[in-house]
Amino acid sequence: MRGHFLVQKYIQGAGIISECGAFLPNLDGRLLLVADAVVMPLVFEKLRKAAAEARLELWKWNFGGECSEEEISEVKKFSIENNIKAIAGAGGGKSLDTSRMVSHQLKIPMISIPTIASSNAATSSLAVLYSKDHIYMYPVKIGRCPDLVIVDSEIITHAPVRFLIAGMGDGLSAIYEGEAMKTANKKTVHGTDCNPTSLIISRLAHDVIREKGYQAKISVENHIVTPALEDVIEAIIFLSEAGAEGGGGTAIPHGLHAALTILPEIKEVYHGEKVAFGILVQFVLEDRPLDEILEMQRFYAKIGLPITLKDLRIIDDVERKIHNVVKTACEPGRYVHNMPFSIKEESLFDAIMMADALGREFLAKRLI
Ligand SMILES: [Zn+2]
Repeated sequence: MRGHFLVQKYIQGAGIISECGAFLPNLDGRLLLVADAVVMPLVFEKLRKAAAEARLELWKWNFGGECSEEEISEVKKFSIENNIKAIAGAGGGKSLDTSRMVSHQLKIPMISIPTIASSNAATSSLAVLYSKDHIYMYPVKIGRCPDLVIVDSEIITHAPVRFLIAGMGDGLSAIYEGEAMKTANKKTVHGTDCNPTSLIISRLAHDVIREKGYQAKISVENHIVTPALEDVIEAIIFLSEAGAEGGGGTAIPHGLHAALTILPEIKEVYHGEKVAFGILVQFVLEDRPLDEILEMQRFYAKIGLPITLKDLRIIDDVERKIHNVVKTACEPGRYVHNMPFSIKEESLFDAIMMADALGREFLAKRLI
């Protein structure tokens, strides 16, 4: 069985939040905006005016910073007590995931407003739960993507460029993970087979990022909205997730990302940065030609994605830490087992160390 699982509506453009009224659910009730203290002033007033057009009164929830069971139950309680009819999450992945969980539990519409393009979480049907101490706990299968996604490229242009760079790492991975899963005959998160159309979408996301990623980076560094930037934002947020939902997108990169969160020093490293390094690890495990690895390293070096463990801030006591990471990554049921061959702790350890060694060779200019 094959399936496609997409957002209901996706709109993107400079200043689009002010113009989104016609796309909002027309509910004659209260819409709750979940956002932290930095994001709330960027979005609230613009969304309030647009919401009024859809007969929605905008309320706010000041997000505490982590998509944890505790925060979800507080937002849920508040929503029930105040008769909230729809929920919007604005910010990075975690405020969005918190809103997604509440929308799922209360069966109310969910609006996703990513203010950075650091991952494809805004359009996902999964929420990822973390402990209050920022440790990855478990994914929750919501089963459906958001009802509406609003991407204001003007806001993304003013966010730190490192977010966009991390998003490119996340967007690149869907094709490699999906192809591995299709070969392994693994199922998507929806229990469907990895379908070829979705893999073409993941490939397109990858190609757009490789082709226009550097221009997109320059655009954000200079706060200019360009067609290349719009294409890359769409590739990260919409295409790569649309591809992963129906084509599979969880193998070594996402498996490694989740396991790396056990290291305290990795807290400051973004999701897409860990995923990007995971692509290089998967390349080693797949025994891809050195030229292909080198080409990817060149792209990473050009835009600023990590190619060594040092880039991931894993500097001392490396072997012991990686042994612990690998142990977690290889627990039964984890994503690394979506590969078409068996993944053992030793082989994953060796691949991580080899990806790091190749990264150091690249930086020493011995691979060029
Ligand atoms: Zn991801």
